[in-house]
Order: sequence, then C-alpha cells, then structure tokens
Amino acid sequence: MSDIFLYNTKTRQQEAFVPIHEGGVSIYSCGPTVYHYAHIGNLRAYVFADVLRRMFVQSGFSVKHVINITDVGHLVGDGDMGEDKLETGAKREGKTAWDIAKFYTDAFFVDLDALNIPRDAYLFPRATENIPEQITLIKTLEEKGFTYKTSDGIYFDTSKFPRYTDLAKLDIEGLQSGARIEENTEKKNITDFALWKFSPKETVRHMEWDSPWGKGFPGWHIECSAMSEKYLGKHFDIHTGGIDHIPVHHTNEIAQSEGAHNETYVNYWMHVNFLNDKDGKMAKSSGDFLRLQTLINEKINPLAYRYYLLTTHYRSEISFSFESLRGSQEAYNKLFSWCAHYKETTGTISEKYKADFKRMIGDDVNTPQAIALIWTLMKDYGVSATDKYATILYFDEVLGLGLKNATRLELHVSDEVKKLLEERDKARINKNFAESDRLRNEIANHGFVVKDTPNGQELETK
Ligand code: AMP
Ligand code: ZN
Repeated sequence: MSDIFLYNTKTRQQEAFVPIHEGGVSIYSCGPTVYHYAHIGNLRAYVFADVLRRMFVQSGFSVKHVINITDVGHLVGDGDMGEDKLETGAKREGKTAWDIAKFYTDAFFVDLDALNIPRDAYLFPRATENIPEQITLIKTLEEKGFTYKTSDGIYFDTSKFPRYTDLAKLDIEGLQSGARIEENTEKKNITDFALWKFSPKETVRHMEWDSPWGKGFPGWHIECSAMSEKYLGKHFDIHTGGIDHIPVHHTNEIAQSEGAHNETYVNYWMHVNFLNDKDGKMAKSSGDFLRLQTLINEKINPLAYRYYLLTTHYRSEISFSFESLRGSQEAYNKLFSWCAHYKETTGTISEKYKADFKRMIGDDVNTPQAIALIWTLMKDYGVSATDKYATILYFDEVLGLGLKNATRLELHVSDEVKKLLEERDKARINKNFAESDRLRNEIANHGFVVKDTPNGQELETK
C-alpha cells in the first residue's frame, strides 16, 4: 500500500490510495469549455490536478493523465436547453465555432505554460475528435434500454439506473419540488439528460455530425465517459473536477459508464472547491471575469498565483482578493530570490524534512502545510543553506513553483531610488557611514533592503 491518502467524494472519507495496476495511476480531469478564456477559478482546478500528478510522479508511479477539451455540446441553459456555448462564442465574436474552439484552446495552453503545468505530461483529447467513440457508447446504452427519444434528442432515462443518486446523495423529490418550470416537457424524469441532440431545423450549426439517430451533436456528459474509456479504460483510478460537477456532470458520467459496462467506473473522485470573488462564484458566462492575463497586467507573476492557490487546501473555498494575492507574491519573491543565491549548489536533501513533506502531501494533498514547511525549514539553523536549497527543490518537484529556475529578480527600481543608491555609493567611498545609514533608511522607505556585498550594493524587496 502506498503512503498516499485521498479524500474520496464517493465515500465522503479519506482513504488509502490503492492503484488498480501496481505502480501506475490513471487520472482524468474535466477540462475547459473553450468558448472563452479560462478564469482564474477554472485554473485552480488544473493547478490542483498538476500537483496531484506531480505527487504521484515523485512517489514513483507512472502516471497517465487526461485533461479533455470540451469544444462542443456544453449548453448554456440547465436541463439540456439553450444554445451550445461554442455557438454562443461564435456569435459573440463573428467567427465559426471551430475558430472559437481553436483560439481559446490555444489561450488555455498559454495559461498552462505560465502556471508551470507541463503540456507534455498530459493528453488533451477534444470532444470533436472523438465523435465515433461517443456514438458507440450511446448505441451500447440504447441496446441496454437506458435511452429514449424526444423531439430534440436521445436522452438517458435516469430512473433505469438505481445508483443514480449515490455520488451526490441527491434528493430527487427535493429536486422535483424545487424545480423551476421544466423547460423540456418531454423528459421523463427531472434528472434525465441528453446523450445526442438533433441539429435544429431552422438554423445550421457550425458543428454537426451524422449519427444513427439523425444529424446532430453529442451531449456534454458523454464526451467524458467516451474519452476516459478510450485513453484510460472502462475502470480507472482518479477523476477530478470542480465541486459544481458532483450533482450533474459526474453523476451523469457514472450513470453512462456504469450503465454501459456494468463495472465500477472510477475508484477515487476528487473535487476542488471554488475560488470566489467578492461577488460570489466566478463564472465565464458573465463575460466579466479575472483571467491570468488580468493578473499579469496587475504585475502578478503567474507562479505567485500558483503559490497563492497552494496556501489553501483544495477542498476549502478561496475568497479571492488582490490584497492577499500580493501578500503571497511577496512571500514567493522572497523564496525565489533566496533560491537564486544557491543556484547550482549541491547540497543534500534533509531526510527529516523529506519525510515530513511526504507525509503532508500524502495527507490528501495538504499543500498549505507543505508551504508552511518551507518556511519552517528556512528558519532551521540545524540545516545548512545548501541543504535547505536541495530540500526545497525536492518539495518543488510537487509544488511546481519553478524554483529551480530562480534567477535574480529584475527589480523595478524608480529613478529616485537609483539616485539614492548612487549617493549612498559615494558616501561609502568617502567613509561617511552616518550618511550611508541615513540613505539606507530612505531606500527602505521605498520598499527595498540594501545589502553591501563584495560586488557592491544589492537590492532586495522588503
Ligand atoms: P468549464 O470550463 O466551465 O467547463 O470549467 C472548467 C473547470 O473549472 C471545471 O472543473 C469546473 O468545475 C471548474 N470551476 C468552474 N468555476 C470554478 C471556480 N469559481 N473555482 C474553481 N473551479 C471552478
Ligand atoms: Zn467531464
């Protein structure tokens, strides 16, 4: 048994991780719907997935990790009504849905690069490239009697799958009594969902395919069941996503996959809590949201954003504020410039800290504890600086903060501070130490610490 423990949404308990195949782990993370840029809340889901993957790699597992690209079928409205989000994006920008998908998939990859989420460690299958696989799965469900036809598509009859309410502990009666007037009156049960939707008669869609049921496009949920099966098999280890996916998307994935194959779909379900802004949950559909580029424009380093995310456990909500993010950036910069000093040194990893780190990260990916451990280590006089550096780089294999690439930070120094530095240099040459100290304090008021090194004065942020 490994020393990794994960909280499983399926059992609402933390469980020891036991892989299906020894030495390997298969992970599927629900990916972005590429009709707009990812917002910084969405990116939390992928930073978490990346830390999870890195943890397994460090523990010696071979990891197969899929992040799908949803480029068709995710509808705007609840209850499988409304427009496809990709077609909405196309209208908004006067492009085709195909152009929209390409543009925002590329933008997503740019965000991943900036967050040190290595693209080559993942498979990124697209829904539109796996249509035959989705049709095959729907056919299996049809043969097993799980489907019915309405005027707008082929639906999954959730009353035929007795375990339907298990993952989310759904209260169907409560759902029914709280339901808004159901727009889709042809559905047999409130929780039924579309597997295949027919193209509307009055308009021509950019994305549509022939199928045994007529021209149309797949429902959103079927892509994840079909693509996870194709790349990871019918039964795989871990499935991740945001907590919003528990009651609908993941519940529906289980119904489809287990309905079709009659075997367990996923062993561990892991869900990331939301990052909310002051107005509540961040949503792409509102159009007005924070994206990684917004942070960069505010002079936030994307890796400082990654650090910020990791200071909260993935199962806790984050209330986003620039103030706390800037606090994290300061801490990150301090760590980064400290690491730059020790670049290329060859210390030894501290066994004690290594064990502490493994215990913490193996305890349901407890990144806030792991980050705190960095600072405990930094203050530990019993460990040499070069050993500290080696140990921090070991932690960073999992945290992914890019510390191995630390170089001296380019400080943005105003002309005023530059002038003070010149004056202080002159004062030191003239051995006027009182003046030199006065200037040091003045520079400190501008937010910098001056250090006198054999190479002259050096600045660090306070
Ligand atoms: P989407 O692109 O909307 O399909 O969502 C991509 C991922 O981001 C999914 O795993 C969602 O559950 C997750 N997600 C959506 N909103 C938030 C949020 N505010 N905070 C954290 N994760 C989110
Ligand atoms: Zn999914």
